[in-house]
Amino acid sequence: EDEKNKYIKGKKLGEGTYANVYLGHSRVDASTQVAIKKIKVQKEYQDGIAPDAIREMKYLQKLRGHANIIILHSVFSSKDQNLNLVLEYLPLGDLEMLIRDVDHVRYGAADIKAWMGMLTRAIWWCHDNYVLHRDIKPNNLLIAADGEVKLADFGLARSFADPGVRMTANVITRWYRPPELLFGARHYSGAVDIWSVGLVFAELIIRAPYLPGNSEVEQIALICREIGTPTEENWPGVTQLKEYTVPSDVVPVAGKDKYMGRFGAVGSDGVDLLTKTLVLDPRRRITAREMLEHRWWKADPKPTPKHDLPKKT
Ligand code: ADP
Repeated sequence: EDEKNKYIKGKKLGEGTYANVYLGHSRVDASTQVAIKKIKVQKEYQDGIAPDAIREMKYLQKLRGHANIIILHSVFSSKDQNLNLVLEYLPLGDLEMLIRDVDHVRYGAADIKAWMGMLTRAIWWCHDNYVLHRDIKPNNLLIAADGEVKLADFGLARSFADPGVRMTANVITRWYRPPELLFGARHYSGAVDIWSVGLVFAELIIRAPYLPGNSEVEQIALICREIGTPTEENWPGVTQLKEYTVPSDVVPVAGKDKYMGRFGAVGSDGVDLLTKTLVLDPRRRITAREMLEHRWWKADPKPTPKHDLPKKT
């Protein structure tokens, strides 16, 4: 079809694991900029398109129309058979860049509340449409020119409409991976994304990854040390998970006061919400819908209007 002739490809913006991303603009209107994500041909999939590309296309189409989900404008295949996703161009980098640039970017509780609101609404939208993102992290939260945060990178997403189906436990970047996946659970829910949302929340506050494990074993040890050891008492059935192993010195589940010391910058209500996202038992972890009803959003300070949010320098 003609979709490919609608856009002119410009300079390379970046390279990801399965795609190169280019700046582009509309042929008829040069001021309409887009990002063209050209999926690399992977040897394993010579005769077809890589499954992550199919997923990204499918779920972005399904989730279309929410302010906090990156817009997929169009899809085309180039002569070399490559799949190209034409995405909304998001020029202001991602949340990870802002969190890390401690020397130039200052932000406070009202800004964190605005960013967390946008992230929570994005995840609520995914889950309300039976989609698990499965790779929530600051680097996948891109920032639009007007300050809106957009959830991107749906290459690992999948539908959870059918609860009987086994799913892979090998998803979500390690630091943001919940204990049920680290223990090899093959049946899981939107709670996996909520854990990641909680770790993004923690990271926004302390401006460093909260649980940066160097291996899966270390990741579990960090969770036990910081949040508490998963046991039959706090999580009925956990010891039956295939890869359940925890350090022998059992740590009790941390109370709110332990979190207040390190995360108190968002106030007692903010810390209450944080602790509810970091509940070990996925069945008792807060849902995206419940998060949106939390009193923290209404408490002072109010979330910063998007146009006034800090930007990268
Ligand atoms: P990864 O998540 O592995 O970095 P991506 O393929 O999603 O891979 O993106 C690669 C890089 O391209 C990103 O780090 C970013 O710099 C840039 N990029 C991706 N999507 C966009 C976009 N919509 N607008 C602007 N830049 C983008």
